[in-house]
Amino acid sequence: MKLNPSPYIWFNGELVAWEKAQVHVLTHALHYASSVFEGIRAYPTPRGPAVLGLDEHVERLFDSCRIVHLPIPYTPARIRDAVLETVRENGHDACYIRPLVYRGYGALGVWPEENPVEVAIATFPWVKPNERELYENGITVGVSSWRRMAPDTLPAMAKSAGNYVNSALVVMEAKRHGYGEGLVLDVDGYVSEGSGQNVFLVHDGRLWTPPVGSSILAGITRRYVLQVARDLGVETVEQRIPREMLYTADEAFFTGTVAEVTPIRSFDAVPVGSGARGPITRSIQERFFALARGQAVDVHGWLTPVRV
Ligand code: PMP
Repeated sequence: MKLNPSPYIWFNGELVAWEKAQVHVLTHALHYASSVFEGIRAYPTPRGPAVLGLDEHVERLFDSCRIVHLPIPYTPARIRDAVLETVRENGHDACYIRPLVYRGYGALGVWPEENPVEVAIATFPWVKPNERELYENGITVGVSSWRRMAPDTLPAMAKSAGNYVNSALVVMEAKRHGYGEGLVLDVDGYVSEGSGQNVFLVHDGRLWTPPVGSSILAGITRRYVLQVARDLGVETVEQRIPREMLYTADEAFFTGTVAEVTPIRSFDAVPVGSGARGPITRSIQERFFALARGQAVDVHGWLTPVRV
């Protein structure tokens, strides 16, 4: 998605003009991936824009910082307020929100601790072409020849920039082979996730998704979809998923802040179920969007209104 500039970016404690939020080429994070980030969304609701899962995303950002030893110089409450302020001051009805914490300029060498920790929060519209068609007919997925990081190599649970070298290889390979997305297996050969999405399968009427131990990012949308499934009376299973279950699933979909709930039409060109979006996927999509857009009562407290 090409960036569409907004007026402001929150940069180390204040709103600055979009073009002014810049770094030096010797910024540590550019060389050694010493950064973590979040992806959050604000939805248009009848009460104005509202951020979905703000507390969960801020908590995951701080968890990522802890995992990679990045001492973020703000409190969670300050970051939470800064997100709301940035969305508000940029005047969005709906947007994508990208907080970033990174080691800045000052010293070079892998050991990062002489470099300042800096924080930016950018917000911008995320427009997906053919979204309606995509959410009805789904995406084609190819299983990657790459594997997700082994548990003792890179911390998959941190939303850390370095992990996205693996993600980028997965999605580039998938597109080169003519698929819409890639799906990557964990180091033991079990289903892990997409390049930037968690994956769900419907098998025998139950909803399956890999456990956090399968080198996945613990997605906030994943957590919400598991809750929605339980609300709808669908039994959920978080267990290791052998690859062959992809080819025998009745339904499948991806979840993520960007993916939302995207049906999967085929794995390795083998149609999923009948090849059309299935009934469980559809009811989960409907309930998820109703909650995210404030069209259903926010029973789980997922939305934070942007305007006070
Ligand atoms: N896995 C990976 C690797 C991701 O980058 C993302 C997107 N943040 C997800 C899963 C989905 O997470 P979430 O639902 O929190 O956006």
